[in-house]
Amino acid sequence: MTKTCSHLDTVRVVRPSARGCEECLKIGSPWVHLRLCRTCGHVGCCDQSKNKHATKHYHRSKHPIIEGYDPPEGWGWCYVDEVMFDLSDSMTPQNGPIPRYY
Ligand SMILES: [Zn+2]
Ligand SMILES: [Zn+2]
Ligand SMILES: [Zn+2]
Repeated sequence: MTKTCSHLDTVRVVRPSARGCEECLKIGSPWVHLRLCRTCGHVGCCDQSKNKHATKHYHRSKHPIIEGYDPPEGWGWCYVDEVMFDLSDSMTPQNGPIPRYY
């Protein structure tokens, strides 16, 4: 509970790269929830989704912070420190309606 994130100063104002998970849209695969990278704007799917693109993006890019984005939920998560924190005063607006597979 007392753990804090040392990467909060890397949180940027980003423009989402896609309306849904970028990589799932390409291969036509469904997802469960979306996560937005607050370093570069990459949109990926969560760990309950088959392809876990948000986590893959983190491993590839080392961008530590994601935002819950399905729709914007007002929380962030740091992969490095494994802490959740409040982002409700800097949420990223959606580009448009999120495509649905269900
Ligand atoms: Zn952190
Ligand atoms: Zn995906
Ligand atoms: Zn990123």
